[in-house]
Amino acid sequence: MDAHRLLQQSPEYIKGVGTARATLLARELNLHTWEDVLHHFPFRYIDRRKFQNISEIHEQLGMVQLCGWLRDVVHSGTGRGQRLTAWLTDGTGEVALVWFQGIDRLFGLLKLGQEYVVFGRPVAFRNELSLPHPEITTRDRFVEQGAGQTLYPVYPGTEKLRKNRLESRFFSQITRFILDKTHGEVLDYLPSDIRKHHQLVDRQAALWGIHHPQSEREAQVARHRLKFDELFYLQFGLLHNKIKRQSGSRGHRFVHVGEMVNRFYSEQLPFKLTDAQKRVIREIRADMGTGGRQMNRLLQGDVGSGKTIVALMAMLLALDNGFQSCLMAPTEVLAVQHFQSLCELLHNMPVRLALLTGNVRTKERKVLLNDLQIGKIHILVGTHALIEPPVVFCQLGLAIIDEQHRFGVAQRAALWAKNVPPPHILVMTATPIPRTLAMTQYGDLDLSVIDELPAGRRPIMTRHVTDRQRLSVFNFLRKQIAMGRQIYIVYPMIEEGDDEQMKYLMDGYESVSRAFPIPDYQVSILHGRMRPDDKQMEMQRFVSGQTHIMVATTVIEVGVNVPNASVMLIENAERFGLSQLHQLRGRVGRGADQSYCLLMTANEPRGESIRRIEALCSTTDGFKIAEIDLQLRGPGDLSGTQQSGMLDLLLADLRTDETLIAETRQAVEHLLARYTDYSQPPLRGLLMGYQAQKSRHKNWGEIS
Ligand code: ADP
Ligand code: MG
Repeated sequence: MDAHRLLQQSPEYIKGVGTARATLLARELNLHTWEDVLHHFPFRYIDRRKFQNISEIHEQLGMVQLCGWLRDVVHSGTGRGQRLTAWLTDGTGEVALVWFQGIDRLFGLLKLGQEYVVFGRPVAFRNELSLPHPEITTRDRFVEQGAGQTLYPVYPGTEKLRKNRLESRFFSQITRFILDKTHGEVLDYLPSDIRKHHQLVDRQAALWGIHHPQSEREAQVARHRLKFDELFYLQFGLLHNKIKRQSGSRGHRFVHVGEMVNRFYSEQLPFKLTDAQKRVIREIRADMGTGGRQMNRLLQGDVGSGKTIVALMAMLLALDNGFQSCLMAPTEVLAVQHFQSLCELLHNMPVRLALLTGNVRTKERKVLLNDLQIGKIHILVGTHALIEPPVVFCQLGLAIIDEQHRFGVAQRAALWAKNVPPPHILVMTATPIPRTLAMTQYGDLDLSVIDELPAGRRPIMTRHVTDRQRLSVFNFLRKQIAMGRQIYIVYPMIEEGDDEQMKYLMDGYESVSRAFPIPDYQVSILHGRMRPDDKQMEMQRFVSGQTHIMVATTVIEVGVNVPNASVMLIENAERFGLSQLHQLRGRVGRGADQSYCLLMTANEPRGESIRRIEALCSTTDGFKIAEIDLQLRGPGDLSGTQQSGMLDLLLADLRTDETLIAETRQAVEHLLARYTDYSQPPLRGLLMGYQAQKSRHKNWGEIS
């Protein structure tokens, strides 16, 4: 059998594996083939030339290697309560080695006074350290065996695997077997000039080196090569898809800059655009205008940087060229708000706007859908109700998704399918995303960045306060209200409808109402459990200035725009994520007044929550916050559920591998600019290499 076929076999038939263990490998680690096993990498190595002093070991060390003599061996208990305890001493201290299984065999083997090397994980039980089920070898045997192997690989595993003795030693053995059998024949699709340019060892050597390194250096070189592959093929997939999409679908050409754009720009625009806004509008126009291909663009900009107006200009350009547009928002509150502010911006202009959410009544909906289909509606704003099948456009030319992170890939694809050829797509983020994420998660999109806030904004002052300061905080709020300002007070609501959190919100509302009594003060409340009509009414009362305080859950997190609101008080701030806090803070500071964000905690918070609060107090720059968030939370958990674990990278880390990500992206860009034929090398092989990588990364099919 050739190596390729061998690698597709189940590990079941490898000596020492068998059906039961193969099933465990599949179930616990998703390893089904030899190739999968080869890509189950150790996450660190233990230097087997070094021994720890028994007096210095502790639980946090993980695996330790000791060398000493057995002082005593005791067999105790009966039946299932049996155990074997051996006391190991090395002159610095003493530790118990404990076995619960295989006792009879070991009892015969262990000899007092003999020198042993012991390898295991110290565990504390009732203040006593012991090593349960350690590996134990005589010193002589260790020297014999270990000749050459100085670094012992440690593999990730599960409790179940450990119980069944599928530990590091097991992986070390079967990877050796597989690499021996397939020697020299593991396919390496990476063109040699790229290998040379980036100083990469070949794949075969890398797989040996990561599983069985002779030195730290060899392990590093091996890991680097395999990490390069992971990122290279990720970029290959992204950029390959991007090119395929662009060549496969011609875009509508919006070459005509007509009455709507011009009139809006010269007569209706309520402010001067920032340079960044102008630049981004140019980028979008270049895509949709002369480019002749379908736009797929990600618009990044900090909260309050003015993405909405950019979206509107793009929609007017579509309209000037005879096309409809839609703008999709993640929540009803935000969709309604977008609709209202667009209506305001476009007053006096003959643009027909409509709003579609899940709450539009059947009769109105019928009329609306009909108008949409015959082209009487130019711009449709709405929630995900927009993508439902009965929504049929006459000629959809542009689809915009606001707050992209709240939507999945499926929703984008559904919008895509609303027209033939597909509409141009513009997705907008709520807050900036880290550079590494832009290159990976969103790596198949073109990127526009608004990196400038409108002039005259004063930085929001952010303070951490504790419950003890509540009286003075409330006095401060009263002063702000006396100056004509409005206030948000936000409570955490991780799950809309959690009873306990609901009670907490209602208690909060009551105490705010007591501290700010009618008739001097009016307080609004907004949460996800309210009827849509009531939500709308409460929001409206606040927007129009009838109420002074809005007590709310994070339903107001995204997009809500009330420029007169100058204070954001966040209760239990330690319970919010960093980007969520930044997003909430972005609800104030939208007008010309000095604005404040107060982060309230019950007492002094500890650990990671204090770092989030400090980060927020230290900067208002969303780009910086995005980077800090990435560092604190790790890539698995960024900006909510949609993105969590999206890329499931095995070796690369979005926090630390920015340079390599950029390098691989560039390498792939060069390659795809030079070669276009996928039936010929090098692209033919690279496509296969990509398929292989993709099979190990479940989520790659779903990126962006
Ligand atoms: P976001 O990027 O968070 O969606 P918005 O589009 O809601 O931001 O804009 C935030 C606020 O800034 C709005 O009140 C908007 O009218 C205002 N705004 C946008 N662009 C400018 C500008 N160039 N000059 C002044 N104000 C602006
Ligand atoms: Mg917005």
